[in-house]
Amino acid sequence: MWKKIRILILLLILFIVAVNAYRDQNQDWTKPVRVLLHPVNADGQDSTQLYIQQLSNSSFQTVQQYLQQAAAQYRQQPVYFYLQLGRELKQLPPQVPEQASLLDSIIWSLKFRFYAWRQHQSVDGAPHVTLYLNYYDPAHQKALKHSTALEKGRIGSVNLFAAERQNQQNHVVLAHELLHAFGARDKYDLATGLPIYPLGYANPQQQPRYPQQKAELMGGHIPLSSSTSKMPDSLQYTVINDLTAAEIGWLR
Ligand SMILES: [Zn+2]
Repeated sequence: MWKKIRILILLLILFIVAVNAYRDQNQDWTKPVRVLLHPVNADGQDSTQLYIQQLSNSSFQTVQQYLQQAAAQYRQQPVYFYLQLGRELKQLPPQVPEQASLLDSIIWSLKFRFYAWRQHQSVDGAPHVTLYLNYYDPAHQKALKHSTALEKGRIGSVNLFAAERQNQQNHVVLAHELLHAFGARDKYDLATGLPIYPLGYANPQQQPRYPQQKAELMGGHIPLSSSTSKMPDSLQYTVINDLTAAEIGWLR
């Protein structure tokens, strides 16, 4: 059984690599990749403002190193990521519609691209990806709305917690959204939030299958049983599997 699944995954990966080669709109991974991060005080709290004020480029070094290591493994040559903290923005990106129809999604993506165009200033240069980091104080906001990134336009709206103790999980969300901007797809069931077997598993071959130790980054969660999963505490508990690597053009 596993052999058949593996062959199917392999075929899927080959197909994606072929389509990518044909479309040829992948990131050029031989050049340094610049990612610009604009913090936004999304809930207007003073505590959120204090959190934003202490951010610097080094706040995102863990994500940078994680991506460089993962990319180097696939490409067998160094890939350089530069995650840079940009200007704080005063205006929130347009809210991602919930239970959106296709039309809602199209309108939202146009609004979002218009927002990105309006917010851009020449000091920002020409980053490969721009992410808007919307920070919320967890004391006021218990759960965050969905983050989203667009491959076309290479922009993302990322909802994060403004708290030191949430930094590691913020990194997981940020890396996940960043890979969306490069063309990676979600590998979890949108209805249940559970990673899809086997595509969204870090180690689909493991026996017994549960509990898994790590999450596939685009699968989002660590599967604990066939019906339960948990958010990884940090990027250490995530891997990028071959399928995701193929989608973003790390395999060729
Ligand atoms: Zn996603």
